[in-house]
Amino acid sequence: MAEYKGILVCGELADGKLASITTELLGCGRKLADSLQESLSCLLTSDAIGEASKEAIAFGADKVYTVEHPALKEYQADFHIQAVEKLVKDISPRIILMGQTFMGRDLAPRLAFRLDTSLATDCLDLSIDPETKLLIQTRPAYGGNARAVFTSELMPQMATVRSKAMSPLDRDNSRKGEVIPFKIDIDTSKVRAKIIETVKEEAVGVKLEDASVIVSGGRGLGGPEPFQTTLKELADLLHGAVGASRPPADNGWVPAALHIGLTGKIVAPDIYIAIAISGSSQHIAGCSGSKHIIAINKDPEANIFREAEFGVVGKYEEVVPAFTNKLRELLAG
Ligand SMILES: Cc1cc2nc3c(=O)[nH]c(=O)nc-3n(C[C@H](O)[C@H](O)[C@H](O)COP(=O)(O)OP(=O)(O)OC[C@H]3O[C@@H](n4cnc5c(N)ncnc54)[C@H](O)[C@@H]3O)c2cc1C
Repeated sequence: MAEYKGILVCGELADGKLASITTELLGCGRKLADSLQESLSCLLTSDAIGEASKEAIAFGADKVYTVEHPALKEYQADFHIQAVEKLVKDISPRIILMGQTFMGRDLAPRLAFRLDTSLATDCLDLSIDPETKLLIQTRPAYGGNARAVFTSELMPQMATVRSKAMSPLDRDNSRKGEVIPFKIDIDTSKVRAKIIETVKEEAVGVKLEDASVIVSGGRGLGGPEPFQTTLKELADLLHGAVGASRPPADNGWVPAALHIGLTGKIVAPDIYIAIAISGSSQHIAGCSGSKHIIAINKDPEANIFREAEFGVVGKYEEVVPAFTNKLRELLAG
């Protein structure tokens, strides 16, 4: 039987650099590796990896395996799975971590099936049981209303991790590590799905995932206009981004990319301002990681007030402009 050892992070690149989820996974992987006293590896797959392997070391990896191939330019399950499966079978990691991203959500179950092991998706916390050395995996259950804690005895142990659930280490360019080009012939005849077109999400201003302040609107806004005026004005003042609950996205008031929640984006800003959002569990599943939630709602019984640290009961048409004006005054002074 193979001896399973070490942690492997399956990394992702964004615009030629390590994606933020990968730095977060490396931060978490480092802690797990240290508590096991084992090493942390990172796999990077792309057509051109460039400086990203050095970045992975600066963010905590001991070893970086690189697979460069033109077929790996964009995520394509049939190609990426070949690289990951071959590496995993060669190095037998104890734990494999991926992001709960477009790529991780697709690749992780495929890999788990091929390795005949289990997978905990969308984890919010990971630690090591000191006695058994098994991975303790915490993930949301019942639409985000509860948290479930799992362990699995199957090896290797696999988890995908929600973005912003873990913190990266501070970048340290003096960290030492090894970059290992991993040789594999990608069989390009094994393609069952082809990417016909990639449409880049339009990003105007601060991206939702990177924003430290999110001003989010719900169905109670009644239409698209307040998103472009009242909410945007407040978000701009705070150098933040505008988000939404699902109904505004379903109604076409805002682009689908702004939808936050169980079926939308998961965000964890410093400040989340929920305006005319009732606070359903499906919405809270996407913003409960925020440091501070502020709610503005005309219904004092709205569930959002149970989640919020600060709240104002009132019509958004009156409360938000007054709040924005006061803030502008304070910021100017
Ligand atoms: C499988 C599944 C997945 C889902 N996924 C998601 C998800 O990812 N994200 C998500 O958001 N939802 C999701 N939903 C939908 C979710 O259940 C709720 O229906 C939705 O979150 C409600 O959105 P809302 O709070 O904007 O609207 P509502 O629940 O209609 O609330 C509107 C709020 O606005 C307030 N309001 C109205 N007028 C004003 C005013 N003038 N000033 C101030 N306040 C006012 C009201 O008091 C009310 O509290 C999902 C549902 C299902 C079944």
